[in-house]
Parts: sequence; structure tokens; C-alpha cells
Amino acid sequence: MAVADAVTGEALCRVSSDGLDLENAVQHARRVGGPSLHALRFPERAAVVKSMALALSDRKEELYELSARAGATRSDAKVDVDGGFGTALVYSSIGRKALPDGRIVVEDEPILLGKEGRFVGRHVLTSRRGLALQINAFNFPVWGMLEKLAPALLAGVPTIVKPATPTAFITEHAVRIMLEAGVLPDGALQLVCGFVPGVLDQLGGQDLVGFTGSAATAARLRAHDAVTRRSVRFTAEADSLNSSILGPDAVPGTPEFDIFVDQVVVEMTTKAGQKCTAIRRAFVPHALYEATAEAIAEKLAAVVVGAPDADGVTMGALVGLDQREDVRTQIAKLSRSGDLLFGDPGKVDVVGADAERGAFLSPILLGADPDARAPHEVEAFGPVCTLLPFADPADVPDLVARGEGSLVASMVSADADFVRSAVVGIAAHHGRLVVLDQRSATESTGHGIPMPQLVHGGPGRAGGGEEAGGLRAVYHHLQRTAVQGGPEVVDALARSTSGSLAGI
Ligand code: NAP
Repeated sequence: MAVADAVTGEALCRVSSDGLDLENAVQHARRVGGPSLHALRFPERAAVVKSMALALSDRKEELYELSARAGATRSDAKVDVDGGFGTALVYSSIGRKALPDGRIVVEDEPILLGKEGRFVGRHVLTSRRGLALQINAFNFPVWGMLEKLAPALLAGVPTIVKPATPTAFITEHAVRIMLEAGVLPDGALQLVCGFVPGVLDQLGGQDLVGFTGSAATAARLRAHDAVTRRSVRFTAEADSLNSSILGPDAVPGTPEFDIFVDQVVVEMTTKAGQKCTAIRRAFVPHALYEATAEAIAEKLAAVVVGAPDADGVTMGALVGLDQREDVRTQIAKLSRSGDLLFGDPGKVDVVGADAERGAFLSPILLGADPDARAPHEVEAFGPVCTLLPFADPADVPDLVARGEGSLVASMVSADADFVRSAVVGIAAHHGRLVVLDQRSATESTGHGIPMPQLVHGGPGRAGGGEEAGGLRAVYHHLQRTAVQGGPEVVDALARSTSGSLAGI
């Protein structure tokens, strides 16, 4: 498939897996990658992850340059590239500090199962003997790979990366950098761009599939025999209609009002809104609707759209013309039940490029009745957000829940009672909640940035998966087995954390 430069529309590369022996790639991961990783102890694997991350850091400029061809400004590219190697570095540190100096993890304390203490139980975690196939979305070609790769390597599981076609050229270069660094054990990492016919047919109970992308593709993959019959461990991170909520106390003139407005604009324009965590629904008290709409529109008017390397540009292009068409179609659906408060989906002033040849789009702010269905159902994967007024704070949990499960929600308020009831009311529908006031905002990592130490994922529409999450993400790649027996057997297990897998 041909891929065009997002900014100029010129042909950039072709992406295809034709001629690749995919069966052999799977076998190579199993026969070579698994054993070469299993031979390393956790601290050695953590060192591999660190060296790999540092190699990417050393050559990040190359990745920024390529990212610009996918429409990303330098700060967009940093979210993906620096966010990617930064995530790997956090995992490396977790691997060094929180995993034993060995190859297995023995959990908890022995649990007495008999009255006399002659029969006890304990959980042991060992490396799965299969491989991880990661299938990624186009919007995070580097971070998306590394947040899955780092925990898999720590767990001793070899990986085949399958990037999304529109930005596969960036992932390919990142993989090249990691391989050229010469730090990865043989077979630990392979890359397949394009279609992956037949790969899922080869996967079984020791393998994992980590998918990030649209809910429609997630549903197709989830229905595959590999998942339904052979119990491949399958995780999906899909699309999501994330919310941000303005507290009734945060009236114009308060720092919290400004924080909310700034954050909505940042989330709409970073990576031209192509972030799975971007704010799609901004809930504001009815009385503050007009003022919020005006303040957001004023800031959006200062956004400069254009070629990522042109002077003054603050928002780049979408990844391609198809994506722009898709976003316009979704905006049209949203517009049927709302008003256009800022921007024209058919027209945008562009600096340093041709507005039609490049995949440029104006930021679009819509306003709608919160009882309309479309804002809670339609994802426009671009610089698009809908402002939704609520009459009573007690309505907020129900309104937010209409998104049927999201990756993240944020609330901006200094009213502890409002925050407490909003957190309790919406937590079950989210993987992550961000609460901001003037004090915490000064150190905030941001609504849209998942942290590797914490859960990234969400229930329902968001895919039902948990990707990042520190040690949990490493454990996801290990098999937990309850071992029952005499205390001496279980004690020996605990001592054997520094032993070899074969020695258990
Ligand atoms: P997509 O069209 O669903 O594609 C995702 C990945 O699946 C791509 O690598 C694609 O490859 C691959 N794919 C498609 N059909 C396949 C099949 N039958 N077998 C194996 N692989 C297959 O999604 P996208 O357009 O790249 O990404 C945008 C969506 O991802 C948005 O909806 C966004 O919300 C979501 N997203 C979610 C998260 C999250 O963490 N929750 C993060 C980022 C993005 P090809 O590109 O080669 O077709």
C-alpha cells in the first residue's frame, strides 16, 4: 500500500508484507527469541530495555524528522518519541528495583491449606513460552510499540511488532535503531509491516496479542479462533470518548477555569487531536457554557495550522487525506445534533503548505445538548471536541457514563465535595482519572498522557484492556501458577527465584 507525506501529499513509501515468511517469523520468535530471553535474569533484561531506550534517545532527531512527514510538530513528535523511550526507561527501572535477581517471581507469603501446616500454597509467575504479537494504531508509532515491548522483554517474551500502515515508516526506523544498537537478544524483536495473513492462525495458549486501534478491528480480532478457541491472551485498547468536567466552583476568573480551557485546547491540538486519550466531551455547568465556549474559541483562534517545520506553527496535519475524510464524516454526524462553535471542517488557513494537498483540518469545537446521542457515540479522531452543558452536578456521572467506558476523564475543580462525588460516580467507567486544581496543575503530567507506572486502558468501549500499569504489565506476560505442597517445596520455590526456569 502506498503511503503519502501528510504535509505535501507526495508519495513517501510503500508498505507491504509480500514475500515475508510469516510462519518462519513466528517459529523464530518461539525457537530463538524465547530461549535467548529466558537465559537472562530480570536485571539483565532491564539492562537490555534501558540500552534500547538510550539508543532511541541518542537518535531521536531522526525520528522527529520522520514524524514531521506524518504531520507531527516537534512537540507532537516528542509526545511519541520521548514518551516512548521515557516509558521504556521507567519499565527498566521497575525491572531493576521491583523484580527479583532471577527468572521467576514468587508472590505473597505461603498460605496455610491444612491444620497442621504440612500443606501450603503459593503463587509462582514464570515466562510464557510463546510470543507477543502487538498490533498498533497509527497515532503512536514509537510509544505504542515501546509501552508493550518493554514489559514483554522484562517478562522474557519475544515480540513481533505490526505497526499501522500510515506510520509504519516511523516504527520501522525505531526498530532499526534498536537493532543497530546491538543490545537485543536474538529473536527478541521482529517487525512485520503490512498485512499479517495467517499469523493469528499460528498462535495458541502461550501467546499474547496486544491490540491498539479502532473498536471495529478489535471486535474482528477478538472473534478469531486463536482467542475464542485457543485462549490467546488478548488485550484491546480501542477508541474512547474521554471527558473533562468543569466544577461549578470554577467560574471565569478562577485559576481552575483557565486550567480547564487550556487543557481542552491542548488536548484538541496536540497531534492534531489524534490521541486516544484526547478530550472529546467537555462537560461544563449550564451557567458557564457561554463563557467557556468563548474562552476556548478565543484560544483556538490563536492556533497556527501548518507544516510542522514552518515558523510559528502550533498544530500540524492529520496523518493522511483518508483520515481527514473520515474525521470530516464524523464531524458531519456530530453537527447534526449540535452547533458549530469554532472552525470550519471544509476550510483552514495553513502556513507553509497547501491546505488541500496536505491533510490539514481546522480545530473544531461543537456545542450540543447532553441528551443528544452523537456526542456520546461518535469519535472524530482529530482536533474535535463537543462542549456539553449540565444542569445539575448530580447528573454528571450518568452523562459521562453514556460514553460506555473511556480511557480517561479529568475534572477541574477546587471543590472537594464535587470532586469526591464525581470521582466515585465515574471511576467505574474509566481506567484513569485526573483531578486538577491550581496547586496540582503546576506538576500535572496532563490529561492525555498515560503514565507507565499506572493503568492505561479502560472498560467497555475503551476495549476492556489494561496496558501499562507498572509491574502489572510485566505480570500480564507471565503465567501465574498456584503451587500447593509441603512448606519445604514452597520455601524452595522462594529461594529458587535466582535459579533457572529449567531448575524449578
Ligand atoms: P485500526 O484501523 O483499527 O488499525 C489498528 C491496527 O490494526 C493497524 O495496525 C491495522 O493495520 C491493524 N489491522 C486492521 N485489520 C487487521 C486484521 N484483520 N488483522 C490484523 N491487523 C489488522 O485503527 P487506526 O486507524 O490505526 O487507529 C485509530 C483508532 O485507534 C482510533 O479509533 C483510536 O481511538 C484508537 N486508539 C486507541 C488507543 C488506546 O490506547 N486505547 C491508542 C491509539 C489509538 P493496517 O494499518 O495495516 O490496516
